[in-house]
Amino acid sequence: MRLVTSPAEIQERALEYRARGLTVGLVPTMGWFHEGHLSLMRLARKKADRVIVSLFVNPIQFGPNEDLDSYPYDLERDRRLAEETGVDILFAPEKQVMYPSGFSSSVIVSGLSSRLCGSSRPGHFDGVTTVVAKLFHLTVPHLAVFGEKDFQQLAVIRKMVDDLDFPVEILGHPIVREESGLAMSSRNTYLKSSEMPAALSLSEGIREAVKRVNRPGAESIDARQVKELVSAIINAHRECEIDYVEVVDSISLENCTEITENSLLVLAVKINNRIRLIDNSILKGS
Ligand code: AMP
Repeated sequence: MRLVTSPAEIQERALEYRARGLTVGLVPTMGWFHEGHLSLMRLARKKADRVIVSLFVNPIQFGPNEDLDSYPYDLERDRRLAEETGVDILFAPEKQVMYPSGFSSSVIVSGLSSRLCGSSRPGHFDGVTTVVAKLFHLTVPHLAVFGEKDFQQLAVIRKMVDDLDFPVEILGHPIVREESGLAMSSRNTYLKSSEMPAALSLSEGIREAVKRVNRPGAESIDARQVKELVSAIINAHRECEIDYVEVVDSISLENCTEITENSLLVLAVKINNRIRLIDNSILKGS
């Protein structure tokens, strides 16, 4: 596996793959790899001839009081894991080469970007779409893999690709969980063991909601009742502060009132006002 830090070099190498008739798969990440990231890489490995993984803690998607400075980072560790997973190139540029002084452009997907996580993290998705657009130009991928854990990011990127005609196929990968049910996340490293029961209340809420919606013979419940059931489970932990608990359409992210096949339960919860966790699940049949 090759480590590339220069944007010019990654673009040259990616174009060379294309010129040789090879398909390129991209997996954008911010590093501190866990099994969720590695599963995305394995999917790209299956679908494309060459796999490029980007590792870039993108400063423009962090708000002023967020965890940019404390975000976990260990290039040697991630390099070894990517290599063991069969990645061809790990692209890990410095911030200054991605955003040299005078950088002044952005890609904005309006509407979708301002709801849910976008409303508590203003500008977050503009940072995501801007860096992903840059990464698409730098790595010219045939396909790119994103995790369904970041359901809104996936929806925003699909919309960007559709609106702006990027010739890239977007693949979603299901959420990878710990045995406990906790959705894997680089931010889980911030959790103290005493905070674990609170963190687990997200997946517990989801599990109970899915069980209730699909219970054979039970009277059907609506979105409001689902939100109440899940909120009660989360609010039982004093460490938890709910950012949102919503039931939305999985494509448009518009709020649902009735539960249908496309209804997605989405959650964002702050633990002790330090760690913001997200999780989601389709409600019917899952
Ligand atoms: P991040 O490094 O957190 O920006 O994540 C990089 C990619 O990995 C994104 O597409 C995430 O949605 C995806 N990802 C992160 N955690 C998980 C998980 N537990 N399961 C599936 N995909 C994930």
